Amino acid sequence: MPSSLPDRPLRLPSIDTLLRHPTCQPLITRHGRDATLAILRGLMEDLREPTRLGELSAPELTADVLLGRVGERLASQQQSRIRRVFNLTGTVLHTNLGRALLPEEAVEAVQLAARYPLNLEFDLATGKRGDRDDLIEGLIRDLTGAEAVTVVNNNAAAVLLALNSLGARKEGVISRGELIEIGGAFRIPDIMARAGVRLHEVGTTNRTHARDYEAAIGPRTGLLMRVHCSNYSIQGFTTQVPTAQLAQIAHQHDLPLLEDLGSGSLLDLTRWGLPAEPTVRQALADGADIVTFSGDKLLGGPQAGIIVGRKDLIARIKKNPLKRALRVDKLTLAALEAVLALYRDPDRLAERLPSLRLLTRPQAEIASQGERLAASLASALGEQWTVSVEPVLGMIGSGSQPVARLPSAALCLRPQVPKRLRSRSLHVLERALRALPVPVLGRIDADALWLDLRQLDDEAQWLAQLPALQLGPVQ
Ligand SMILES: *Cc1c(COP(=O)(O)O)cnc(C)c1O
Repeated sequence: MPSSLPDRPLRLPSIDTLLRHPTCQPLITRHGRDATLAILRGLMEDLREPTRLGELSAPELTADVLLGRVGERLASQQQSRIRRVFNLTGTVLHTNLGRALLPEEAVEAVQLAARYPLNLEFDLATGKRGDRDDLIEGLIRDLTGAEAVTVVNNNAAAVLLALNSLGARKEGVISRGELIEIGGAFRIPDIMARAGVRLHEVGTTNRTHARDYEAAIGPRTGLLMRVHCSNYSIQGFTTQVPTAQLAQIAHQHDLPLLEDLGSGSLLDLTRWGLPAEPTVRQALADGADIVTFSGDKLLGGPQAGIIVGRKDLIARIKKNPLKRALRVDKLTLAALEAVLALYRDPDRLAERLPSLRLLTRPQAEIASQGERLAASLASALGEQWTVSVEPVLGMIGSGSQPVARLPSAALCLRPQVPKRLRSRSLHVLERALRALPVPVLGRIDADALWLDLRQLDDEAQWLAQLPALQLGPVQ
């Protein structure tokens, strides 16, 4: 018999034995008997076959070692799946990373709404039942000039609800150049179909004229629609009918014009040196009857879809049973009210609203932050890496201004290894940064890993965790 095989196959201790073992008691106290038992059973299941095949040694099967593994599994199970990260990707309003960061005022409002009963649908003046939209209607009316307002879960829901309320079983006329897809399976033609609106596309991808709309309008037409092409741009030989003219055409035929603004800024962003983005006020002033936009894009608030416009149309939208299915919760409303309140004082908005503060950080300030951090990062990475501070171009994100770039600065990490190993080194580093207690997310491009520092707020914590960086070997 070869000496490597055990004389007698090793056996796993029984689950009962392990449960009665003194090491198990603290686990049960901490995580509960059911959770401990479930993990224990899972581990035994995983080890049964390797044990039978003699792949495990006796020391690996002692109660202490096995219960140690149970403890690890329980701890990792207990760790929250929702984790904070450092977004150093260069995209500020990153949909996959949660878009806008809320200001302190909004965080406090959310806490209050979470902890206590509140007047969500209760009119404190009359003691009667209220409407949750009333909590933010006045603010949004003041900020946009709209007659009426309603809020739902996100802008996709806003578009679906508005289309269904105003155009079901009728035709919606829209330019071919605006039949867009937004990330995450939001496609205008599909949403229209689900809303029960028959798509009547007019014009061409690059050019649509007033006469195209005119020719499409008939007895079956229910509305005209305009979609702000937020995530791509058509340049060159293009024509688009201005909103004011489109509204005129709609109104001549007694039809509403519905405009999906996407980001929809409440203020003119050029005031802060940012690219011009259509404002909600302007769209309404141009004659759009209903305008929809997101709460967590340029507005800088919680995820929400805001619908503003003509009072009679908003009333129809609010009567739609879908409104009930798509309504926002109290935490969202609390955050939204607090964020909107900051807009009352535009002079201080860039200090107080995190997304605007980050979007407007000057490149020079970001570069000098890079200079402060480069040496510590270089020493954490070791000799195989060079670290430099480089100018880069970031993005607003969330489909706002797809071609506009934000001049920023990044830590550029280059592996000093033979060319054939570079890509692997970069991926090892990328993984190591992602494995930090607060994962650091950058991007790999042109044989380097880039950490755009525009959004690095918490410099101290970022530095403090660098010693935990574990760069495994590059295989
Ligand atoms: C982002 C966007 C949407 C979807 O908004 P969400 O708030 O993400 O649901 C719809 N239309 C346009 C034009 C957009 O840019």
